[in-house]
Amino acid sequence: MSSQEKISNIPRMMNDTSLFSPISSYNHSKKILVVEDNVINREILCQILEDTYETLQAENGKEALEMLEKHGEEIVLILLDIIMPIMDGYTFLSIIKKDSLYSSIPVIIVTLNDSEEDEVKALSRGATDFIRKPYSPQIVINRVASIIKLRETAAMVNLMKFDSLTGMYSKDYFYRKAEEIILNNPESNFHVICSNIENFSLVNDMYGLTVGDELLCYVANMLTDCIQDRGICGRINADVFAFLVENPSPFNKVKIEEKISELNTWFGRCTININFGIYIVDSLDVSMNIACDRAMSAYKSVKGKFDKLYAYYDDKIRLKKLYIQAITNNMQAALDAKEFQVYFQPKYTLNSETISGAEALVRWFSPTEGFLSPGEFIPVFEKNGFITELDKYVWEETCMMLRKCIDDNIPVVPVSVNVSRTDLYYPELPEFILGLVEKYNLDTELLHLEITESAYTENPEPIIKAVSKLRKYGFIIEMDDFGQGYSSLNMLSDLPIDILKLDMKFVQNTADSPDSSGKNITSFVIQLAKWMNLTVTAEGVETRAQVNRLKDMDCDQAQGYYFARPMPKKDYIALLKKLSENNIIEV
Ligand code: C2E
Ligand code: CA
Ligand code: CA
Repeated sequence: MSSQEKISNIPRMMNDTSLFSPISSYNHSKKILVVEDNVINREILCQILEDTYETLQAENGKEALEMLEKHGEEIVLILLDIIMPIMDGYTFLSIIKKDSLYSSIPVIIVTLNDSEEDEVKALSRGATDFIRKPYSPQIVINRVASIIKLRETAAMVNLMKFDSLTGMYSKDYFYRKAEEIILNNPESNFHVICSNIENFSLVNDMYGLTVGDELLCYVANMLTDCIQDRGICGRINADVFAFLVENPSPFNKVKIEEKISELNTWFGRCTININFGIYIVDSLDVSMNIACDRAMSAYKSVKGKFDKLYAYYDDKIRLKKLYIQAITNNMQAALDAKEFQVYFQPKYTLNSETISGAEALVRWFSPTEGFLSPGEFIPVFEKNGFITELDKYVWEETCMMLRKCIDDNIPVVPVSVNVSRTDLYYPELPEFILGLVEKYNLDTELLHLEITESAYTENPEPIIKAVSKLRKYGFIIEMDDFGQGYSSLNMLSDLPIDILKLDMKFVQNTADSPDSSGKNITSFVIQLAKWMNLTVTAEGVETRAQVNRLKDMDCDQAQGYYFARPMPKKDYIALLKKLSENNIIEV
């Protein structure tokens, strides 16, 4: 194999910024399309950008398509929200990426959370980058500028052999060359390695594009040096480099770690981490696009894990992808076939240790996959939006159970159902839930709604609006998993909630460290919540010792295996019946 032309041109390229136009009044002829249903968020983005660019606004994907038809050629970048009525961001993205007129317009997703799945989903549909809410003007301005610059550069060097910044092969050339090399060397073994710089966009945002470029060049040089003449290198995305290595020796972790440490000494501003994903080429006619995609899937399995430098694309990763695909393909049929069942886990008043409520938790009994726990499928459904269908089903099953008990003269206690954050973006949600309790002629207080803490912190405004409405209708609102996210305690007093559910880790910390800070923090949170007139429920209570400590701390309710596990509807009804026969709860 011929070695890549030595990239001695790196230092020259690095300083050559003439290709890039500075941010200037010239940008005013450039239009940025802001697609976001939330008026305030949209206005904020436009205000941040309007000094530098002309902005166009759309409320949803459908309006955005109309805008594209009108202004297509002048739009240099799209800022896109995901969850929107009428047409969501994913659908919009899928449509424009198939349209040759618009497919090259870079799209920055404005996301609510930092879920990797979300990012993978958006990236796989062609998004260029992400900006997280709430917006930092500096990040928005720098990222937009850097992507517009990248696109302009990309257009210029598209058909060129070398990436103008790093001197590595350009993506297209690398792909073509790598495929050719594999095909011409059937006796050799090949690895495709992709590297990614952790939080590279932060470097651009914090120190500016010139420093970002210098870092990229250093890394390109460093990695090319490691490969030497055993393979070829390409830059396939902003900070993603790809390597095809022939007859590779095992990944030299020690050497790479040394190099990264040297890099950090050189850079000095903040710690730079680089991770790698490796795909072992197993077919002569593999497309390099797919090979890099697999190497990137492997990289994602170690992304953010500082103790794991690299991972191989293996069966586990492949199977996980297939598994998610299978779940997605089967979900609607499974719902129709009633494969989902609602279990109920009782909650107990700590004072009397008698039942005071229950939580509805869904389970999936698949005839092919067997029993699936919510941890396996809920995150997938939250990403693809199906969670709302499933939640509606769980809520209705819960209402039906309550109605049946009342009709059969069995005493009931309130049941809380989980309300996913995605559900709360549907404007008609409060009326839907109200309609359900009316349909089954139930008191609204019998249906508690559990909303996870992170929903309030990620995008508080629409969530608080929906939740306030539900509370006005008489529903009791429980903040779930408190302590898992970042809500500050003083924010609690402004939120429309009635019950605080402490995350399991509070209970576990108190038990593990009876005399230490764990107990003090839990006790402090309980006191503060009570001072705000909130009822406190502890989750994940597994032992008598935990029950005693929670009682000492004046916690109101507990839920956990110590008292009862989640159980099928018929067992739960039998439990209620038995308790009423023993006069433990009253009709
Ligand atoms: P969650 O809402 O925090 O629910 C509590 C989880 O803790 C449940 O897990 C429950 O079975 C488990 N658990 C209860 N007591 C104990 C204990 O003593 N020790 C331990 N280690 N665990 C205990 P599950 O049923 O696997 O549900 C996991 C998560 O999936 C739930 O966490 C919730 O976020 C979600 N989920 C479950 N059902 C639904 C649903 O119908 N809709 C939505 N949107 N999410 C759901
Ligand atoms: Ca819950
Ligand atoms: Ca919880």
